[in-house]
Amino acid sequence: MFKAIVASEADGKQSVEIKALTDADLPDHDVLVQVDYSTLNYKDGMALTGAAPVISRFPMVPGIDLAGTVLESANDAWKPGDKVVVNGWGLSERHWGGYSQRQRVSPDWLVALPDAFSTRQAMAIGTAGYTAMLCVLRLEKLGVVPDGGPVLVTGASGGVGSIAISLLSKLGYEIVAATGRTREAAYLKTLGASEVIDRATLAEKGPPMAKEQWQGAVDAAGSRTLVNVLAGIKYGGVVAATGLAHGHDLPGSMFPFILRNVTLSGVDSVMQPRAVRHEAWMRLAEDLDPSKLESTVTEVALAEVLNIAPDILSGKVRGRTIVNVNA
Ligand code: NDP
Repeated sequence: MFKAIVASEADGKQSVEIKALTDADLPDHDVLVQVDYSTLNYKDGMALTGAAPVISRFPMVPGIDLAGTVLESANDAWKPGDKVVVNGWGLSERHWGGYSQRQRVSPDWLVALPDAFSTRQAMAIGTAGYTAMLCVLRLEKLGVVPDGGPVLVTGASGGVGSIAISLLSKLGYEIVAATGRTREAAYLKTLGASEVIDRATLAEKGPPMAKEQWQGAVDAAGSRTLVNVLAGIKYGGVVAATGLAHGHDLPGSMFPFILRNVTLSGVDSVMQPRAVRHEAWMRLAEDLDPSKLESTVTEVALAEVLNIAPDILSGKVRGRTIVNVNA
């Protein structure tokens, strides 16, 4: 027997509880993983609370991330003892995820854990950190360079934001962090931000084009925030947009695109092809300072994640929360 969080639905109402499962309860996939850690991402908060319809089939073991060790594999690509990580691929939506001491997954979803990381560090990174890396890769691909001027990061104290700042800082960028928690300025500067601005300055309706301030941005907010970010991007600049912490709408103007040659580039983590995931994890191993990573981490036990899930939706969680499924 082992422990897992199981979400169920009855009469249209979702409930979540810790249950004892056996291997026979697990889905029919080729690789059995002994899970060490999972994480709490914004999407996990939505799934656990039912605030958004993330889970599309019940019963569901939520948790969009997991890291652990292969116990059994019916696929030649993996063998017992391999250290592995899974991010996304519909975990917690259509497939059972990481809030379990054991999980069966498809061999195609696994990434070999880079030697640089323990399973704990892999989950300190988690989907948020891997997505931050995808955003950095996108900015690089579209011509954003360390000496090209400031890069703005929104949702700066959150998971994606904190790790985006750490990565961009290691790469030599000048970083402006936009946060609702200006009291966290010291933390954001420790991560590598050179300037911290109040996200309220980006929250209200502004002009379609404003002063050119940033050569690029990683945006975790969406909505009016993203529109104001686009309005302040320098000629030819790029925004990697990945989140909707402010909102999922985009109430903006065409002017930054057609008059300033600005690129708005969407970044998805869930369905990225394996080669891109591999590249992102290899670059994380190179470009993420482990001591900065550790300063972002709060560790909780499996049962505790149920209590703190609402906090991530109300912006009370700083940095990365990792879930020790064996505690
Ligand atoms: P977190 O909750 O850790 O961080 C989100 C941060 O956004 C908060 O900490 C807060 O930072 C900021 N924020 C909250 N409310 C608002 C608001 N009204 N306006 C502007 N900023 C706000 O979440 P994650 O970092 O895990 O994820 C960030 C976003 O990215 C989420 O929307 C998530 O769903 C999305 N995401 C998307 C992925 C994809 O595949 N496309 C993958 C991973 C995440 P502060 O207090 O500093 O302002």
